[in-house]
Amino acid sequence: MTRDKTISVEPETTVVPDKHRRDFLKRSGAGVLSLSLSSLASGLAPGFVKDANAGTASPKYASWEDIYRKEWKWDKVTWGSHLNVCWPQGSCKFYVYVRNGIVWREEQAAKTAACSVDYVDYNPLGCQKGSAFNNNLYGDERVKYPLMRVGKRGEGKWKRVSWDEATTAIADSIIDSFEEQKTSDGFILDAPHVHAGSIAWGAGFRMTYLMDGVSPDINVDIGDTYMGAFHTFGKMHMGYSADNLLDSELIFMTCSNWSYTYPSSYHFMTEARYKGAEVVVVAPDFNPTTPAADLHVPVRVGGDAAFWLGVSQVMVEEKLINRQFVSEQTDMPLLVRMDTGKFLSAADIDGGDEKQFYFFDEKSKALHKANRGTLKLDIVPALEGASTVKLKNGTSVQVRTVFEALKEHLKEYTPEQASAKSGVPASLIREIGRKVAKKRTSSYIGFSSAKSYHGDLMERSLLLAMALSGNWGKPGTGFFAWSYADDNMLFLGVMNKPVAEGGMDELHHMAEDFHKRTIAADSTATDEMSNIEFIKAVTAAVGLVPPAMWLYYHVGYDQLWNNQAWSDPALKKSYGGYLDEAIKKGWWTKDHIRPAPDKTPHVYMLLSQNPMRRKRSGAKMFPEVLFPKLKMIFALETRMSSSAMYADIVLPCAWYYEKHEMTTPCSGNPFFTFVDRAVPPPGECREEWDGIALILKKMGERAKARGLVEYTDHNGKKRKYGELYDKFTMNGRLLTNDDCMKEMVEINKAVGVFAKDYSYEKFKKDGQTRFLSFGAGASKYAQGNEIDVTKPIYPLRWHVEDKKVFPTHTRRAQFYLDHDWYLEAGEGLPTHKDTPMVGGDHPFKITGGHPRVSIHSTHLTNSHLSRLHRGQPVVHMNAKDAAELGIKDGEMAKLFNDFADCEIMVRTAPNVQPKQCIVYFWDAHQYKDWKPYDILLIGMPKPLHLAGGYEQFRYYFMNGSPAPVTDRGVRVSIKKA
Ligand code: SF4
Repeated sequence: MTRDKTISVEPETTVVPDKHRRDFLKRSGAGVLSLSLSSLASGLAPGFVKDANAGTASPKYASWEDIYRKEWKWDKVTWGSHLNVCWPQGSCKFYVYVRNGIVWREEQAAKTAACSVDYVDYNPLGCQKGSAFNNNLYGDERVKYPLMRVGKRGEGKWKRVSWDEATTAIADSIIDSFEEQKTSDGFILDAPHVHAGSIAWGAGFRMTYLMDGVSPDINVDIGDTYMGAFHTFGKMHMGYSADNLLDSELIFMTCSNWSYTYPSSYHFMTEARYKGAEVVVVAPDFNPTTPAADLHVPVRVGGDAAFWLGVSQVMVEEKLINRQFVSEQTDMPLLVRMDTGKFLSAADIDGGDEKQFYFFDEKSKALHKANRGTLKLDIVPALEGASTVKLKNGTSVQVRTVFEALKEHLKEYTPEQASAKSGVPASLIREIGRKVAKKRTSSYIGFSSAKSYHGDLMERSLLLAMALSGNWGKPGTGFFAWSYADDNMLFLGVMNKPVAEGGMDELHHMAEDFHKRTIAADSTATDEMSNIEFIKAVTAAVGLVPPAMWLYYHVGYDQLWNNQAWSDPALKKSYGGYLDEAIKKGWWTKDHIRPAPDKTPHVYMLLSQNPMRRKRSGAKMFPEVLFPKLKMIFALETRMSSSAMYADIVLPCAWYYEKHEMTTPCSGNPFFTFVDRAVPPPGECREEWDGIALILKKMGERAKARGLVEYTDHNGKKRKYGELYDKFTMNGRLLTNDDCMKEMVEINKAVGVFAKDYSYEKFKKDGQTRFLSFGAGASKYAQGNEIDVTKPIYPLRWHVEDKKVFPTHTRRAQFYLDHDWYLEAGEGLPTHKDTPMVGGDHPFKITGGHPRVSIHSTHLTNSHLSRLHRGQPVVHMNAKDAAELGIKDGEMAKLFNDFADCEIMVRTAPNVQPKQCIVYFWDAHQYKDWKPYDILLIGMPKPLHLAGGYEQFRYYFMNGSPAPVTDRGVRVSIKKA
């Protein structure tokens, strides 16, 4: 039988009664399956495994081939994937094999086609985490019944309760908070993570949207916000598909480690080399991706900006730059006043628009207004030179172009000087500068950049090198800051009625209204700019807030972040000083600062969120500062995470293969994958959508029983308790994940992500479909290019070919930020700054990121994957450093800084730079005393990212605002434990 013939597309099949499966799990020892015989047991009688393992029974085989044949007999095979958001890869198409009501096995379908015969395909598309995931379903950590705490928080004492009891207690706690504080600010959903699934994420949006709850922005919270890209282009979701690398001649892998974090598409990188591309890995350590590269750039921790500025200096010095591209796409030809450092504007010249800036026309030798509505040049602007300009007040000032200022600035970054700052040999900087100038170059910027204090400077410097060489907006170019089509989730969160009844039309009209108003205020504004205004409004309506705000006011992070000794020495004020000024200037409002500083968080909900593992220093700050204020902590979870262990109530949720879901793909692998409900969920697990609906229903019932009708939201408006459930379910139309899946297919059709004639049934049958567009929202505009399904995806073509302006202060890709705060801090132009001494004066700089064996914390205790590593937290450190400290490989060490400490096993490694130490993350409960290394990290956000009053300095969903996650380069000491 071929595998294709075994594919079953039934919506749902309960082959074996639930009791049968539970009995089996009991017999097989808490459901943890071992390899060897039990792994082959799918063809055997359910009770046989225990006896065979005990040696009390022998298998009755007709022949040895029977074992093999029976292993490959399944009750059904369905489509699956993993919703853990292994962006920018993920969405791999898997076969899921079911026997006796258990998911026994899964494997790559290897059916994801290439875009055309000219490119390689995506297959086999998958990784070891995905292939071993089904073991998580039956692992020891699985939560199957609602649990209520009976001991102290975190003590681990629980009693089993019903969903009714649990949701009654939760509903009462929310109502108590709303009534007591006369606002909805006391409810925090922190923060719906898409790795619960696209529908679960949509459910989180919808819940806070309808309740007016508070939800810290997950993307900023996890530190996946590229502030340097955001400030340069006014947006950051610009990505390419993995096969775009095959059009590149030079590929930079920076702040990343594809061998660990992008295994499913790693082959595109190596296959590009067969076409002649050179691969350059920029990393402090000789990381596991490096052996496949042509060049390793051994940059010091935090030295990336100096390296890229050295590369840029070579291009400028050796006159290798693409002058036409630079003049047209960037702010380099704009004139800057040398007295104030500000762009010369019409307000200076004749009292006109303060955002009207100037070129110097090479031909007429006169000032010329830079067009704000198009990048198309009607003159040849001078890139170099300085001159004197008469102002409206009669005085004269010296002006020069941004490029002239850059040339001056780059004098500090000759290859030799850049080498001293970055640790990269000067000869290598020269060699790379010449290569970038000549070759079609793409770069992959990993998320470590967004987790570096000066990551914005690193990105701005890299992008400068790309600008000087003309490397964006063309096939084979681009810098992966990830793009995706997310309209289905966001719109599911805020639609008032289904698509078929005009739900999307309402939203389109609202977006159109924003467009009209934006254009009326400025006729040169683009549809991208009006869409950003629309998304800003949606962001506020959903209750999304910059996470750094609530952490600062309510979780005690003010104590950490106001320590100026841990901050950039160039800054004149503490973090709080900048925050106060920003609020006073109106850059941040009551929509951003929630809960308001004078309100107390009361109810804290976790939806597939693990702050005890992930929040920098959270394992100390949350239990010590936040939790004592909270009247209720509850978690909707599939597994007992370190954070769920601190909850008052844990509500058990269905995991992948136990509910209908679809992946949320990124451009790297641009396919939506159908995740079928292969088996029913165990125990009393519910879909998150259903669980949230139940809480809202209970709120209506409890309010009625308590004689309450309405409450006041944070805008002072009245909302009715009794309407929440009906609104959430669209009057009973969306009750299950399957209902929501059908609706999300309709949304995707309405916004052009799916074909107009596509259907839920076809999706379920095919298991996967390529997205046709980036939708109708912010993602579409950020990407700045259509999708041609016969070609790789690359960003920003609209700007290069169609000359569309960027949504920035200057309407151009902007490398000079003339904001007062940036000028004062010496960051007007991209520059190198050493990482501040966050954590104190300690000799080691810590780095890290995703481990080889887990996506987020999902697989960290998967028994099969644990056999691939030491099975416990490990710090990788240079062998000589360890020897000097008298620590041997395998011994325990204490990592400590001025704030905290933890114990961890040492792995000595020659590939780690001296005074660098690497810890890939682990769950908190895997450490002694539940003290993870994350406790040391502080997460110091960069105060300059509080700046406002400038076009691209703004916050909207997923973009902008200071991220409380900077940890690369935090200082620690190490000693033998
Ligand atoms: S975990 Fe992610 S990368 Fe791995 S197989 Fe699953 S979807 Fe693919």
